[in-house]
Amino acid sequence: MGHRFVVLAACGALLGNRRHHVAHLGFGYPLLFTLATIHSRTQSGLLRKGWRPNMKLVLLGTTGYFPNERRHTLCLALPQCGVVLDAGTGLFRLARYTTTDELDIFLSHAHLDHIVGLTYLHGVLADKTLQRVTVHAAQEKIDAIRKHLFAEAIFPVAPRCDFRPLKESVAIGGGGTVRHFPLQHPGGSIGFRLDWPQRSMAYVTDTTAAVDAPYVKLLQGVDLLVHECYFPDNQAAWAEKTGHSHTTPVAQVAKACGAKRLILVHMDPASTDDDPIDLQTARAIFPNTELGEDLAEIEF
Ligand SMILES: [Zn+2]
Ligand SMILES: [Zn+2]
Repeated sequence: MGHRFVVLAACGALLGNRRHHVAHLGFGYPLLFTLATIHSRTQSGLLRKGWRPNMKLVLLGTTGYFPNERRHTLCLALPQCGVVLDAGTGLFRLARYTTTDELDIFLSHAHLDHIVGLTYLHGVLADKTLQRVTVHAAQEKIDAIRKHLFAEAIFPVAPRCDFRPLKESVAIGGGGTVRHFPLQHPGGSIGFRLDWPQRSMAYVTDTTAAVDAPYVKLLQGVDLLVHECYFPDNQAAWAEKTGHSHTTPVAQVAKACGAKRLILVHMDPASTDDDPIDLQTARAIFPNTELGEDLAEIEF
C-alpha cells in the first residue's frame, strides 16, 4: 500500500541520517515514533474501513497433461499460508517460495499431471526448517498414489510426508479453512474453496464447466476463481468427451457465482500461443478474466 511505502521510506531516511548526522538524533527519534504511531493508527483505521492485507498466490505451473516450453503442469502455492494446490511438474519450483515450517498439499485428483511433483518433494524437504508436509486427497487417490507412484519399480524412496484423507473442512494458515466439492471428470476430481476471515478463493480444475453444475453455487462471491479452460469454444465437443472445460461456460460460471476475478489454467499444452482459448470471448461475458502464466504472482 502507498502509505506504507511512504512511512517506511521516511523511517529509512531517518535511520540513514542517524549514521551520518548524529546531531539529528534528538529530533529524529521522536519523529520516527510519531510516524510509526501515524502508520499504526492509519492501518487500524483502514482495517476498520475494510482494508484487507493482500494474499499472494504463485502460479508454479499452469497447464495440464504435459509441460511445454511455456508452462509446467498444475501447481499453485499460497506461501504465506503454507498451502499448495496440486502437485504437477511445477512443484519443482516450490522450494524457493516456502516461508512456513508446515506445508499442506491438496490434490484435486490423481491423474499424473497433478501428482508427479510429489516425487520432487525431496528437493523441498531438503530445507531443514520444514517440520511437516501433509498431502490431503480422497482416500482412493491416496491408495493409488502409494500403490503406483511410489511403487518400488517406479519411485522407491517416498518423501517424508503424511497422507491424510480429506476432511470436510481443513484448517490452514492465516486462520483459513479449505472445503471441497465433487466435479465432473473421468475417474473423479474435486474442487476446493479456501476462505479466510477477509479473503476467499476457489480452485476448480479437471471438470466440464456448466453454469447450472452443482459446484457453481459453492463458489458464491469468491474474490478469486482459478478455473481450468483446456479448450476454446470450437473444441466444445472434445471438452465434453474428455471431461474438460471450454471458454464460454467457464466465463459464465465466473459471472454466475459473482467472482471478482477469474484466472484460467490447465490450457491445452499443445499450444504455447499467447491466447490459446480466445480471451475476447471470455471477457465479453466476464471482463475480469486473465490467462494464468507460470510464475505469475497474483495478489487478491
Ligand atoms: Zn489435468
Ligand atoms: Zn484429470
